[in-house]
Amino acid sequence: MAYQSINPYDGKLLKKYEEITDQQLEKAIATAQACFEIWKNKTFAERAVIVAKAAAIMHARIDEFALLVTQDMGKLIDQSRGEAKLSADIIDYYAKNAEQFLAPQRLKPSSGEAEIQNAPFGVLFGVEPWNFPYYQLARFAAPNLMAGNVVMVKHAGCVPQCALAFEKLWLEAGAPVGAYTNLFISYDQVNRVIDDPRVMGVALTGSVEAGKTVAGRAGQNLKKSTMELGGADAFIVLEDADIDKTVQWAVWGKMNNTGQCCVAAKRFIVVEALADRFLEKFKAALAALKPGDPMDKATTLGPLSTESALVKLVDQVKQAVAHGATLVLGGGRIDRPGAFMQPTILSNIKPDNPAYGQEFFGPVALFFKVKNEDEAVALANDSEFGLGGCVFTKDVARGKRVASRVDTGMMFVNHPTWTTADLPFGGIKNSGYGRELSSLGIQEFVNKKLVRVASIDAPA
Ligand code: NAP
Repeated sequence: MAYQSINPYDGKLLKKYEEITDQQLEKAIATAQACFEIWKNKTFAERAVIVAKAAAIMHARIDEFALLVTQDMGKLIDQSRGEAKLSADIIDYYAKNAEQFLAPQRLKPSSGEAEIQNAPFGVLFGVEPWNFPYYQLARFAAPNLMAGNVVMVKHAGCVPQCALAFEKLWLEAGAPVGAYTNLFISYDQVNRVIDDPRVMGVALTGSVEAGKTVAGRAGQNLKKSTMELGGADAFIVLEDADIDKTVQWAVWGKMNNTGQCCVAAKRFIVVEALADRFLEKFKAALAALKPGDPMDKATTLGPLSTESALVKLVDQVKQAVAHGATLVLGGGRIDRPGAFMQPTILSNIKPDNPAYGQEFFGPVALFFKVKNEDEAVALANDSEFGLGGCVFTKDVARGKRVASRVDTGMMFVNHPTWTTADLPFGGIKNSGYGRELSSLGIQEFVNKKLVRVASIDAPA
């Protein structure tokens, strides 16, 4: 496994880093453990000074942070800037709100006193993906550092510049060595970290396959884990939707980050009264996207993160067509240097087509025409995934009713699924378990400790 930054726009190798040795890994875990013993005794106010400083540094240097995202994985530069800002916002949000979220909760027992305190777990280990190279780290690190935990992170192999920049951020903000540790490690070493008795919890964001491996290992060690995995989110369009505005959101929901979002709209489920018109407009909008340099603000279609991601996606589309899907648009790589994929729409995907149950991680939309709302809900729920989803309708009450019938962790009405610091994020079924962000995210790796005071003279 390699930690290397290869710019997917032109295929140039920018940086390469060696994996650390087992001795270096041992030292890193020992340092994190020693740091925890001090960090856990800091007050919220003391931790907040450092965490807020990290947010301020990131806010002040958005362009610098954004450039590394675009170099490492090809995100359009304005979106990289947006990600850096969102990450800084998340860090700041926990600096400001953690104390309130983790305040002791007084209970009302029949006699005496009792409260639930939130004690930190210890050293936590995160395994993170490349698609939002800072945001994923921020939503793991910021709440846990504020809770008094310390974190170690194995980031994805293709975004090492971002991994190092994020680690440096904490040191610059004044965090003690060991509070946030980046680990360039192999899969075997991932197992070592999970097995290590000093490591108390494991969080992974990534694919179902990685989730099964890492959650399985954590389970063998009886360690708490959270899993933020893939999705095949439904974008439901009801017959009373505003078609032009809905198509604009459909393009955004599909193409943000070149389709490489866990919560990207992946299955477009449109009621038949609007379906043909929707498809025509959606196709025209996708076909009009302009591939080019992701550093150029005029570019509207960036490369995929890596050459191998492109090869995998093109192959998935081929397989879908071989099993009977109709290619409405695109379908292959763009004839130019770099990992560029044509915006693609597939229709006529039957349940026996492997594509029916798969996640397409890129600019590929699966289109389904259904008779009515009930069929739309049934199709949305016919998935092993359950991450996000959305429904478009002029009738908000109806939208909320449909949202409550779809089996996912997050449903949006009149907006594609998206994320902010103050809204919980996570899924069900093969999309994983646990929540990140909001007041819920900070509760995952704390010991909900009961402290009970009883009268010494109370009966047994
Ligand atoms: P991935 O291949 O699963 O990689 C995610 C992380 O897991 C990387 O750091 C990767 O390391 C590591 N990893 C993979 N297999 C491993 C194993 N057997 N043992 C130890 N570590 C392992 O996923 P990806 O392709 O980077 O990301 C895309 C997937 O993530 C999609 O399915 C997407 O939907 C999902 N995702 C979910 C969320 C969410 O919040 N639910 C958010 C973003 C992305 P290497 O890079 O070194 O292989």
